[in-house]
Amino acid sequence: MVTAVVGANWGDEGKGKITDMLSEKADIIVRFQGGANAGHTIVNDYGKFALHTLPSGVFYGHTTSIIGNGVALDIPKLFNEVKEIEEKGVPAPKILVSDRAQMVMPYHVLFDQYEEERLGGKAFGSTKSGIAPFYSDKYAKIGFQVSELFDDEETLRDKIETVILKKNVLLENLYHKPALTVDEVYNTLMEYKEMVAPFVCDVSAFLYDAIKEGKNILLEGQLGSMKDPDHGIYPMVTSSSTLAGYGAVGAGIPPYEIKKIVTVCKAYSSAVGAGEFVSEIFGDEADELRKRGGDGGEFGATTGRPRRMGWFDCVASKYGCRIQGTTDVAFTVLDVLGYLDEIPVCVGYEIDGEVTKDFPTTSKLKKAKPVYKVLSGWKEDIRGIKKYEDLPENCRGYIEFIESEIGFPITMVSNGPGRSDIIYR
Ligand code: GDP
Repeated sequence: MVTAVVGANWGDEGKGKITDMLSEKADIIVRFQGGANAGHTIVNDYGKFALHTLPSGVFYGHTTSIIGNGVALDIPKLFNEVKEIEEKGVPAPKILVSDRAQMVMPYHVLFDQYEEERLGGKAFGSTKSGIAPFYSDKYAKIGFQVSELFDDEETLRDKIETVILKKNVLLENLYHKPALTVDEVYNTLMEYKEMVAPFVCDVSAFLYDAIKEGKNILLEGQLGSMKDPDHGIYPMVTSSSTLAGYGAVGAGIPPYEIKKIVTVCKAYSSAVGAGEFVSEIFGDEADELRKRGGDGGEFGATTGRPRRMGWFDCVASKYGCRIQGTTDVAFTVLDVLGYLDEIPVCVGYEIDGEVTKDFPTTSKLKKAKPVYKVLSGWKEDIRGIKKYEDLPENCRGYIEFIESEIGFPITMVSNGPGRSDIIYR
């Protein structure tokens, strides 16, 4: 059976923890989109890890970790990550890389930096990992697929020449930076070939057989619904689809095989980068939540940047869950809210004097003001609780109120960063 684990919000909902936890019963975990631009923080028996490219199921000896064709594959970053986890005592992971995945090139990272510099105050807040230039090239058909590493030298050099002709026009005339050479790009690709060659295979054929054999497969999403280029807060989005539906494309499996869609929702909101965030809070209130949030504060796993903070947004989360095709909601980081006397929850958006519960397109979203309902806090540490009935009444009230507002069943409640900090309902 195939299960997707995806985010309802702006990312950082705790998908890594949920994937790591569900991986105990999984055979294969697939990354199907995004690249090394966002990170998942995982706390388990081996320690604390920030994964960027490896799937979060990599810690179990019985799992196979797959980089699907939809991923922006940064080969040196992937193998650095493998080295890092092995150094911390994790058994050498079984990795497969799709021969149809495309590679992030060093010049994609440079273009990302140059463009953010050029935009100055209007920058997207990119993590400068080369993701937008990478996907632009993929769809402009000037990207490099892993399979091309195995072409003969002449074919590859011809292709490089065509590609860098375009790149160099921008480098020299828009950014006033040094031009690329065929040799430099060719040599980089050969280094990548040496690293990745033992892991390359036809992933979609492998998964097709695995599905037929009844294997348990997890598709792990990066970021969340709000960052989807079609359904999110365009243009402040990422460059590949963050939706479970894209899991079929980015892994190369039949769409009807995705039977379960676990959408991860965090018990409050946080966001990185620029873009609309209606229930955002500021000042001391935000600092306090940021300091207490997640596992050791809400700071970016890739960049260390302080995350923007806000109250739970039912409008965005209802939409975020709907657009994912949610079958189950995993409600995470609830333990963090135990310090609050009262907890505001955003239940509507006021736009031009009218209140709506429907998530609008970006221009309307810019005008939206949050409408809050204030719920009572539970003022208790709920970590360690294993049964739903044992949660404080107000805590259950918070969960049940949000469940009724978003309209999707909360079947898992996460009350700590560890694997076993989970309450099934
Ligand atoms: P992801 O990108 O969706 O995997 O999320 P991140 O890893 O960026 O952020 C989630 C953070 O919350 C990480 O530091 C996790 O260790 C932490 N976390 C996940 N679930 C819980 C939870 O239930 N309680 C607490 N306190 N922290 C959690």
